[in-house]
Amino acid sequence: MRLGEIEVHPLVAGRFRLDGGAMFGVIPRVLWEKKMAPDEKNRISMTMNVLLIKAGGKNILVDTGAGDKEDAKFHEMYALGHSLLEGELAARGLTPSAIDIVVNTHLHFDHAGGNTSRGEDGRIAPVFPNARYLVQRSEFDEAMAANERNRASYFSENYKPLFDEGRMELLDGESEIASGLAVEPLPGHTRGLQGLMIHSGGKTGLYLADCVPTSHHIPLPWIMAYDLYPTETLATKKRILPEAARGGWTLFFEHDPSVLAATIEQEAGGRFVVHPLKDDA
Ligand SMILES: [Zn+2]
Repeated sequence: MRLGEIEVHPLVAGRFRLDGGAMFGVIPRVLWEKKMAPDEKNRISMTMNVLLIKAGGKNILVDTGAGDKEDAKFHEMYALGHSLLEGELAARGLTPSAIDIVVNTHLHFDHAGGNTSRGEDGRIAPVFPNARYLVQRSEFDEAMAANERNRASYFSENYKPLFDEGRMELLDGESEIASGLAVEPLPGHTRGLQGLMIHSGGKTGLYLADCVPTSHHIPLPWIMAYDLYPTETLATKKRILPEAARGGWTLFFEHDPSVLAATIEQEAGGRFVVHPLKDDA
């Protein structure tokens, strides 16, 4: 699809499953299972929808999925399929070396795992050899000091080698990365979570990352149990979503298997209604 002068394509980088209870936090199963039916292990099926953006002659990728470095046990635990990202890029005539900028919304494995690959000799290499990788400094610091609560999601081979080679740049807050494109802090899931704002030709888009991972997470209290700072997620949603509704923004969902983009409307009582969009190009 296009937003003004900017071309935006959600790409499905892979498929996996996570515990439905963890995905919906304090929301009772009787409510969320009507939206996303769990399997026999209580897991719901999700995708990793990254964003390919063409703007100002640059190819920009927002998040990279889980990649292909993990072992069979890990793949089974999360019902994680192989990475689809290179195939999706190839279908649009792009090789990994054509990517100029990679924005990592944060450094959890299902967002940054595709940043790097492991060669047969065990060496970690960048998947996108010509790209600058951009992440918030507060996210990088949190990832480097992972604790018992969050270390199941942070694997240093996804980011530390890139930082050590000078390929990963640390941002402090809102920051323009190309004309009409800026990273937008969306704290809560992690303190350094960032989304991507797109402004062009009077149109606005926002990639919500793990602040609102699926269209079912639009209602304010539908917040993941994975979030480290859930009351900050709530504050971020209260700041962003009414404005998105008023402005007719195109919202992109990173983990929704069926609604990759939508607009929202806010009813008089405050409730949000989701209007899914089709990516027609
Ligand atoms: Zn995450």
